Amino acid sequence: MVRADMNCPCCSNKPYAACCKLYHDGLPAPTALALMRSRYSAYALGKADYIIQTTHPKSPYYESNWKKWKLAILNFCHQMQFTGLEILSYGEDWVHFVAHLGNTTLEEKSQFAKVDGKWLYLKKIE
Ligand SMILES: [Zn+2]
Repeated sequence: MVRADMNCPCCSNKPYAACCKLYHDGLPAPTALALMRSRYSAYALGKADYIIQTTHPKSPYYESNWKKWKLAILNFCHQMQFTGLEILSYGEDWVHFVAHLGNTTLEEKSQFAKVDGKWLYLKKIE
């Protein structure tokens, strides 16, 4: 269950309502970093539509079959525990992070691109 006063899953130490919820509700994320954090929160909260909407159409992870893609995302969300996010470094259009997923971790340097004023996830660089 999502409570607006819970701590944001992106580990910002802010309430969800004052953090990623703004972007999940439609405000464009102002930076690639904010978008990345909000995508982690979206995975943690099972918001598959947000993941789809913030993936660049030219991304290698983009799926034209949204129904199938959504099920795959939801499956991933339910199988994993989203226990924390660490930002190692970032620039204007990239973020290097470690996502803690229960007893496994995922380290990735991600690239983002701005399309029509909105930041979108493009691909994994490293
Ligand atoms: Zn957040």
